Amino acid sequence: MALNILVVDDSAVMRSMIIRTLQMSGVELGEVHQAANGQEALVVLDQHWLDLALVDINMPVMNGEELIECIRQKPAIADLPIVVISTEGSETRIERLQQHGAKFVHKPFTPETIQQIIQSVTEVTNGR
Ligand SMILES: [Mg+2]
Repeated sequence: MALNILVVDDSAVMRSMIIRTLQMSGVELGEVHQAANGQEALVVLDQHWLDLALVDINMPVMNGEELIECIRQKPAIADLPIVVISTEGSETRIERLQQHGAKFVHKPFTPETIQQIIQSVTEVTNGR
């Protein structure tokens, strides 16, 4: 099953790195969309059907945590699988994100890591 993926990060370089890593991971990719902050991500989510969002935490305008809270409150996209990709080290912050059902991956990451995480989050929601 090809996955439509949204990559949310304020760094364009990081977004292309993430997309390159995705392409090397063996995950079958459908549409790949990008957004530079949470607000842009919500616009993309309104306009496209997405299977998964990869989300940075520290971003201007609307950060990753605010974005995830917003997504979980919108019935149409509340179940969207989310993987947070960040250099974030704070355990309490990571725990808070996990309570919102988001998985966490530290930057930088390997194609194998992202492949395993994507498999685990998309399997859970298969058949939703
Ligand atoms: Mg950032």
